[in-house]
Amino acid sequence: MSETARQSTKSAPQRAMERLGLLRDIDLALHLPMRYEDETRIEPVAALHDGDTAQVEGVVRHCQVEIRSRRQLVVRLADDSGELTLRFLHFYPSTQKQLAVGSRVRVRGEVRVGFLGREMVHPTVKRVDEHTPLAASLTPVYPASAQLPQAYLRKAVAAGLSRAPLDEVLPPGVVPSGLPPLREALRLLHHPPPGIAMGALEDHSHPAWQRLKFDELLAQQLSQLQARLERSRLAAPALRDSTLPARLRTVLPFTLTAAQERVVAEIDADLALAQPMHRLLQGDVGSGKTVVAALAAATAIGSGWQCALMAPTEILAEQHFKKLVDWLLPLGLEVAWLTGSRKGKQRQAMLAKIASGQAALVVGTHAVIQEDVVFARLGLAVVDEQHRFGVAQRLALRRKLELQALEPHLLMMSATPIPRTLAMTYFADLAVSTIDELPPGRTPVVTKVFADDKREQVVEKIRDEVARGRQVYWVCPLVDESEHIDLQNATATHAQLSEALPGVSVGLLHGRMAAADKAATMAEFSAGRMQLLVATTVIEVGVDVPNASLMVIEHAERFGLAQLHQLRGRVGRGAVASVCVLLYTAPLSATGKARLRAMAETTDGFEIARRDLDIRGPGEFMGSRQSGDALLRFADLAEDDALLERARELAPKLLREQPAAARAHVQRWLGGKAEFLKA
Ligand code: ADP
Ligand code: MG
Repeated sequence: MSETARQSTKSAPQRAMERLGLLRDIDLALHLPMRYEDETRIEPVAALHDGDTAQVEGVVRHCQVEIRSRRQLVVRLADDSGELTLRFLHFYPSTQKQLAVGSRVRVRGEVRVGFLGREMVHPTVKRVDEHTPLAASLTPVYPASAQLPQAYLRKAVAAGLSRAPLDEVLPPGVVPSGLPPLREALRLLHHPPPGIAMGALEDHSHPAWQRLKFDELLAQQLSQLQARLERSRLAAPALRDSTLPARLRTVLPFTLTAAQERVVAEIDADLALAQPMHRLLQGDVGSGKTVVAALAAATAIGSGWQCALMAPTEILAEQHFKKLVDWLLPLGLEVAWLTGSRKGKQRQAMLAKIASGQAALVVGTHAVIQEDVVFARLGLAVVDEQHRFGVAQRLALRRKLELQALEPHLLMMSATPIPRTLAMTYFADLAVSTIDELPPGRTPVVTKVFADDKREQVVEKIRDEVARGRQVYWVCPLVDESEHIDLQNATATHAQLSEALPGVSVGLLHGRMAAADKAATMAEFSAGRMQLLVATTVIEVGVDVPNASLMVIEHAERFGLAQLHQLRGRVGRGAVASVCVLLYTAPLSATGKARLRAMAETTDGFEIARRDLDIRGPGEFMGSRQSGDALLRFADLAEDDALLERARELAPKLLREQPAAARAHVQRWLGGKAEFLKA
């Protein structure tokens, strides 16, 4: 049978289930209700209160179509305690038949107590007799859709639950005491017994919920450990050299901070091993990650290997390129430059130098991972702003590296610190180094929040700064996804500011400019020949002009906190006291206010990341890493840190002592997704 023929034999609900990923019995068993209906009890009519959702049983006394404001079916139902009115605005002849005078029915719905007594609008109705039993457990309500009716889904889940292999795969002692076996937990969550504490089900604190969360967290920890173990079996060149790094240190215009020294030592220890490093270097904006990368590069190159440095944008790549050239050229090294805009002969020449090994260091954008780039001896790959690269790109990088007999070491750098629980969950297989101290002599940036109508004063302030020989950034708002509109805005602002500030050299920088023009504009600003730079967010990362002392961010309310923090990091790079002005357009929502206040209150990137996580939740925080797949369905990192700790403690022991059980557990929970987690 062809694929299309097979498709057409599937019913609409079947296809809808597939779209939800409900394929295996275990998938169905893990598809949990979002709420429950209580059909285990019958309430006397007289006991119903306004707003209750309840089930009532009685005999129909009256059933008539009436024309009030509109045509409707009005039914009166009586039990021993009183009478209840049922009202249907949409109904079929079958509804009328079902509710004929004299029939006994069970109805369920929301109670309204009004002027005319108690009533329900559009209750569910079931014909019964005196002996029809009540439901033995609460009725699950699953996330459903038009193509996937609730009744169909209930049956499918119940069948999946009874067939799914739910035998315990974890050895005794692993599951925290007090938590039920998996089968029992799932049965309870799908069909809770009457009288269960609903609060504990709803807030997921019930032991059955805890069991699911624990299993899920454990599966994730195990799969990350497995990935780490697999990597440790791979071979990498052992990189050991003290000569070149020492020479690099002598040309540096500063000495390293204690924090930088510590992370350099951590990285050196990894590089010296004959297995690939997989390390995340995190440090706030301006903490000095570049020089750490340069020292690692020097170690690699001094050991006779090449180093690749990859950055998400050409501007950032250019910044690294210039700085690294300044530092490394005096050591007699050759640096190759590879970006999307280098094409033709120039590119061919670079590729040849990379393939022959003549270029010791290769700096660039995604162009570095293109298929035709072949390294002679790639020993170390450094990825800056790693969170800006998607999973696919990171996988491409690793795959590229697999072409060699040896894998290179991998150093990822990020200025967006990852909160501890996230690091433990999503990056459990990564070693993390943190630079937790800024180089000396920095004056913290003062942040001020103003409404848009203070623009005049802000322009005044720019005039003052320029008069004192300082430089200024003006960051234009992110209007929407459209680069075109962003550009229009930036151009208009550029014109306004040029007019308002005669005699001041005002430049414009935006994403649509050719790379050479961008570089030329940046060069003017870096050299101090341009005093005011109007820019779209292309300056977000990597721009380093110590003389810049003021940054104005327009429509600050439209930026994410992490992004504002990145932007703000462009000032306060020298010894001069710097100011960041956040302009917003009123009215501002309560969260909007809270967010801008957070920016004014702290300059600590870790604290900002924590607040950002609170406001946006981990999904968005992690960005592309999670795209398409919510990696955690049950556990909540904000609440379940105790379970996470426990899973983290147990995972290594389980993997070591009961590898088969560990594998079975990962397979059950992650199935095909385990590969994805390794990216
Ligand atoms: P980031 O971590 O944001 O990438 P950079 O590497 O760009 O930070 O460093 C920010 C600035 O601080 C650069 O001008 C860099 O040369 C300088 N710098 C780095 N380390 C030190 C240090 N130990 N002492 C003084 N200045 C330093
Ligand atoms: Mg940097």
